[in-house]
Amino acid sequence: MNPSWSPAWHAPRSRAEAVELLRHGATPVGGGAALLSRAFPHSAGSAVVDLRAAVDAGSTPPVVGAGATIASLAADPALLAGWPAVAQAAGLTANPGIRRIATIGGTVAGRIPTADLAAPLAVHAAVVLLETGVRPGPARLPYLEYLAQAATLGPHLVTGLDLGAPARGAYRRIAGRHGPAPALATVAGVIDREGRVLLCAGACAPMPLLFTPGELPGPDQLLDDDRASALYRSRLLSVLADEVVEALS
Ligand SMILES: Cc1cc2nc3c(=O)[nH]c(=O)nc-3n(C[C@H](O)[C@H](O)[C@H](O)COP(=O)(O)OP(=O)(O)OC[C@H]3O[C@@H](n4cnc5c(N)ncnc54)[C@H](O)[C@@H]3O)c2cc1C
Repeated sequence: MNPSWSPAWHAPRSRAEAVELLRHGATPVGGGAALLSRAFPHSAGSAVVDLRAAVDAGSTPPVVGAGATIASLAADPALLAGWPAVAQAAGLTANPGIRRIATIGGTVAGRIPTADLAAPLAVHAAVVLLETGVRPGPARLPYLEYLAQAATLGPHLVTGLDLGAPARGAYRRIAGRHGPAPALATVAGVIDREGRVLLCAGACAPMPLLFTPGELPGPDQLLDDDRASALYRSRLLSVLADEVVEALS
């Protein structure tokens, strides 16, 4: 964080007030974790909207308030029972300090491709709840559509998530080093109502990739960069997918 940065700090008590501030150019801040690290693109302007008192921090699955911390999701008994892939990914995100401050709203809105929660949210067909200030009232966008369209939505407030139906699930990740580190590849899986296994790859492409066992995304769909080649990522996906399928069997 730039030490000379001292923005006007607003702490609205309602969503309507927060949306109004966003429409006038202020930057939303959930837990502020992205502000801590130069690794994450976070361009906060001269005015900041601290969302703590404006968005719900409660969790009554399938609905989770945007202010719920990643640590609270990892420990939520209802999530652990009904949405275990989400709870497991929350528990493997970053480190305990970051998990205590980072919110689900900031994690979704931050749209970091390596986010641990991306694959579980996509495979559960989670829906993002938001307010744009353009149209009155809340709006709903499927998570993958939100990721694709967020840059064109204009100023908006993520108010929560609808995680969809509960399902048996599992989550696995591989990073480049031991301990907390950004994932090179992740796989989340669930068993749907018809008993089929649905899988999603995360952290290895610009967007989470849905697939079924035996039909893994090929190297041509995966990132090839200085962290890992596309071929290496495809091998990681194969290992992770096998582990998830085994955990679900
Ligand atoms: C040291 C470190 C290690 C990390 N390791 C991992 C990791 O292993 N796995 C992983 O997945 N992530 C990791 N992260 C990323 C971290 O999980 C995210 O930065 C964090 O979840 C963001 O949540 P936040 O509430 O702090 O968001 P903020 O930092 O407050 O905001 C993030 C972005 O979202 C916007 N925003 C925030 N809340 C809202 C809202 N309600 N509506 C609209 N826009 C909003 C902000 O303007 C900003 O652009 C790491 C971060 C750090 C600093």
